[in-house]
Amino acid sequence: MPNIENKPTVIYIIADRRSGSTLLENMLSKSEEIISVGELAMLKGHILKEGPGEMWAWHCSCGKPVLQCDFWSRVLRGAVDSHFETKISWPYKFLTTPLASLSPRTSCRSLTSYVHTPENAQTTGFLKNIYETISRTYDKKFIVDSSKDAMQALAVYECKEIDAKFIWLIRDLRAVTFSKLKRWQVNKRSDKGAYETMLDSYAYKKLCKAVLSCMDKEDTLKLHYEAVADEPQKALDKICSSFGLKKFAAPEVMELTNDHTIAGTPGRFESKPITADNSWRSFYEDKKLLSAVGKMFNAL
Ligand SMILES: [Zn+2]
Repeated sequence: MPNIENKPTVIYIIADRRSGSTLLENMLSKSEEIISVGELAMLKGHILKEGPGEMWAWHCSCGKPVLQCDFWSRVLRGAVDSHFETKISWPYKFLTTPLASLSPRTSCRSLTSYVHTPENAQTTGFLKNIYETISRTYDKKFIVDSSKDAMQALAVYECKEIDAKFIWLIRDLRAVTFSKLKRWQVNKRSDKGAYETMLDSYAYKKLCKAVLSCMDKEDTLKLHYEAVADEPQKALDKICSSFGLKKFAAPEVMELTNDHTIAGTPGRFESKPITADNSWRSFYEDKKLLSAVGKMFNAL
């Protein structure tokens, strides 16, 4: 029988979309002490085959429907009932707009109140049970959850029964904007323009910053996508020494190996060398003003 005496430690990745969270999750999954679940917030959608995930038919990364995959069927045995939920709900627009004008203390109070609703407390309880069952079943001390969602991260942080550490992964807002626009051309999920997308991305960055300010500094680590992709070993060493993991060799390629992860970047099924994607730069060659706005937002 696996022998985990202590509670698992969740390493939760906070990030915007298109910011390299799947790359970081994949790199971390190579540690023998870690098991990665991908984006746990998307688990219910993947079980019900609803919301994002259509491109891979909402399957687990092993290629099987979630409840038919050996990994998840063991973890979820008896857990999925009509109340089952894996996503924290909160009023996005309502929160992000006035956030910038609030003092960190006021915004923390207001943000924290959202994650303590009875509904969200129940969801956090489900997440805690899933983390614990995975740790016990697969004998791993650390669980990586790359759900990205800043408010969900706060809910996990606020749950005193979960031990968690948080990585805020930041990418150049110009790259995020370009990558979101490119993705939407394929999946037609949004028809927002470049400026609106950049402003939204900036607002989300402010929300992440506000959430991080509610957390104990020792539990958080801020990393830049560009640094992670350019110097993977340095980034992993920093994570290991900050969060008490044994150091391990950084992989040279991003690839799935016996993973059972939920959601992630659509490109994750191909094995690729780890290198920073700078393809966004040419997009801005004739968009000097947009580029300047992005640079300004990066600095704020
Ligand atoms: Zn699977």
